[in-house]
Amino acid sequence: MATHKLLLLPGDGIGPEVMREVEKIVSWFRKSGIGFETETDLVGGAAYDAHKVAVTDAAMQRAQDADAVLFGAVGGPKWDAVPYNVRPEAGLLRLRKDLGLFANIRPAICYPALADASSLKREIVEGLDIVIVRELTGGVYFGEPKELVTLEDGSQRAVDTQVYTTGEIERITRVAFEMAKTRRNKVSSAEKSNVMKTGVLWRQVVSKIHKAEYADVELEHVLADNAAMQLVRNPKQFDVIVTDNLFGDILSDIGAMLTGSLGMLPSASLGAEDPKTGKRKALYEPVHGSAPDIAGKGLANPIAMIGSFGMALRYSFGLIEEADRLDKAIANVLASGTRTKDIAAPGANAVGTQDVGDAIVRELETLR
Ligand code: NAD
Repeated sequence: MATHKLLLLPGDGIGPEVMREVEKIVSWFRKSGIGFETETDLVGGAAYDAHKVAVTDAAMQRAQDADAVLFGAVGGPKWDAVPYNVRPEAGLLRLRKDLGLFANIRPAICYPALADASSLKREIVEGLDIVIVRELTGGVYFGEPKELVTLEDGSQRAVDTQVYTTGEIERITRVAFEMAKTRRNKVSSAEKSNVMKTGVLWRQVVSKIHKAEYADVELEHVLADNAAMQLVRNPKQFDVIVTDNLFGDILSDIGAMLTGSLGMLPSASLGAEDPKTGKRKALYEPVHGSAPDIAGKGLANPIAMIGSFGMALRYSFGLIEEADRLDKAIANVLASGTRTKDIAAPGANAVGTQDVGDAIVRELETLR
């Protein structure tokens, strides 16, 4: 039996609480015959408290050796004053950098049972199922020069540089097309080719890859500002949106709000395919942070974390049936009215973190 190696990094705040629920799901799949091997390590403030770094070299090595990393959340007021280079977020940044995670994948799914939790009208979001593929390691957040200088007259000048190379665009484009092939076969590429050179190159490269390798997938080019507008006007027109780091940051947050609650949003970050094994380095994490306001109270919604494990089943392990079953179990639990406070209907009773995990395990059993 193939063994899938998972590294669990629960982190801080609600991270460990939601990770415990994932462990229940992993155990259930293990009992049903899938070989999962798990290791656990510290990251973020928890690693700082124990080792004075945000992630140790030993944990990094475990991450390199794992088939997938599951990451909870890091940070909190306790570590606000620690030195910048060892602040909790530095752990996540190192993981992304050292594992070469260039593709960030964020689904925005609106479960029918939760359509009223969105700030948009039910008919606009009900049944929404789109994916935003964001380039994560290039673009304006990393381009050089990046500086803030004081001029002779005492005023200041700030510079950020948007840079993309053909190779960087090609690899993220392929991730988007591959994803679309497993879904509704449509890619929308968002850039600003009307005013940015990087946008011109982006459009050219996406078109070239489309023509040469994915002509059977529908491709449309959308200006990023229009994409933002369309996402709130009629989000169901999209399937996979591929875009750069900056636009992806913004568009994926819009996507997030379409679905109602931060506690519902999983994400995946993928690296390059290893030419020998065909495997990609991968880290799966909820979009939310460590939620210090509710940490330790058993109130956190574990669905974003459990959904992140679902993405690992799908994208790292190719366990599509199992991933579908887990998604269905989550949808059924929500439809039955079992909800944590963040998504409970006004006046309805809310349950705790563990109750949701237990309900999903029971539902998996029923769906078997
Ligand atoms: P947050 O996502 O932690 O919380 C924002 C709000 O959403 C809070 O009211 C919180 O209670 C609620 N919330 C978040 N997740 C929830 C869940 N699963 N269930 C129910 N409610 C949930 O963002 P923040 O408050 O801006 O940041 C808190 C800390 O988390 C900070 O230290 C920040 O730096 C860190 N952070 C970490 C990550 C990460 O680890 N990837 C991401 C964002 C923020």
